[in-house]
Amino acid sequence: MTEKIGVIGAGIVGLAVARELATTRGAEVTVLEKEDRVGAHQTGHNSGVVHAGIYYPPGSLKARLCREGVALLKEYCAHHRLPYEEVGKLVVASTSAERPRLAALAERARANGVPGITELDALGLREVEPHAVGVGAVHSPHTAIADFPAVARRLALDVAELGGSVRLAHPVRAIRETAGSVEVLAAGRRFAFDRLVICAGLGTDAVARMAGRRGDIRIVPFRGEYYALAGAARDLVRGLIYPVPDPRYPFLGVHLTRHIDGEVLVGPNAVLALAYEGYRGYNLRNSWQILRWPGTLRMARQHWRTGLKEVHGSLVKGAFVRAARRYVPELTASDLRRTEGGVRAQAVAKDGRLVDDFAVDVEGRVVLVRNAPSPAATSSLAIARHISGIVPALVR
Ligand SMILES: Cc1cc2nc3c(=O)[nH]c(=O)nc-3n(C[C@H](O)[C@H](O)[C@H](O)COP(=O)(O)OP(=O)(O)OC[C@H]3O[C@@H](n4cnc5c(N)ncnc54)[C@H](O)[C@@H]3O)c2cc1C
Repeated sequence: MTEKIGVIGAGIVGLAVARELATTRGAEVTVLEKEDRVGAHQTGHNSGVVHAGIYYPPGSLKARLCREGVALLKEYCAHHRLPYEEVGKLVVASTSAERPRLAALAERARANGVPGITELDALGLREVEPHAVGVGAVHSPHTAIADFPAVARRLALDVAELGGSVRLAHPVRAIRETAGSVEVLAAGRRFAFDRLVICAGLGTDAVARMAGRRGDIRIVPFRGEYYALAGAARDLVRGLIYPVPDPRYPFLGVHLTRHIDGEVLVGPNAVLALAYEGYRGYNLRNSWQILRWPGTLRMARQHWRTGLKEVHGSLVKGAFVRAARRYVPELTASDLRRTEGGVRAQAVAKDGRLVDDFAVDVEGRVVLVRNAPSPAATSSLAIARHISGIVPALVR
């Protein structure tokens, strides 16, 4: 009998999982999405970078699934004629003090199997990015850009072609597990599945609660704000220019990224949001949920200095301009105009630690993706394979 699998969330991860399970197991999949379109949240509000796997600790899920994900995504985009451009990335050290971290990064990238990594001096980096400055750089020529929302839309078509369905405007309101199935209530209808895979991004905690799996980590939303370069200033950046990351805050550091539509983005920063979908403003109920989690305050206590700097950057355009000018000094304040941002779903442990790696729980009939921050868009097709591999098919 055909296995029935429900997937909550039509972001790039949920859709990739649905497609994988329909393809490899012949499962009948139903994706339930609360919004009226696919890719409405993180998938549609990010930097659009296909990360090559430079940063992640060797042996971590991120390191493995990012490399596998790049290969799968490149092939998928070629097959479906979706945009995919290897514009290359420079990680630039702007002071000699950053050199040891830069060298360690090059070593890590090689350990992760990232192809074509070279270390450049001040002159060498200008051959790659003529308007950038720094004392040295690591160059990753195969780091690419893609259109993740277009990938998500294509995955949704695949699901339909494989006999599954993607039900938009179906917010999941309740989940009940019985001996023989998982029942899900969405848009006033009751669905019964053999398995349920939760890929709800910023909605993870709410859905985990419905499924009775509160767990010991929670999602803390971090808003990422961007500016876009106006007019001719776009020509100052060919590909992707990144700072040397601070190992304590791997997702911090304003960078310059060429987008697939020709825009060049400056950002994102990372500001604690007081709403799960906190693109702007706050939500009292969400704020209470976020602040009540002991990990949030412990994290704030450990990182308040950095947090204040990020808030400053959010309020004062000059801080963003300074961060960008550090790498491309020809930029001026009038070259930057505010543009749409995104909100990251970042899991935080009770002790305030940011959960670094991807995290997936499997218990009974429910698979719960607990942490899928960057590079999960890059890794989505590999995350889907991973999930398919760790969840045995149910025989009825
Ligand atoms: C600012 C920013 C920059 C980033 N840059 C990059 C990058 O350059 N490269 C990269 O690889 N990654 C990047 N990322 C990370 C990447 O965007 C995410 O890791 C990825 O999109 C996660 O996909 P997802 O499907 O898990 O989540 P989402 O895309 O957020 O999808 C989750 C879906 O679940 C739905 N949902 C939630 N609750 C319910 C419910 N109760 N019922 C039904 N549906 C529900 C939501 O509406 C949403 O559509 C970035 C993220 C941000 C925010």
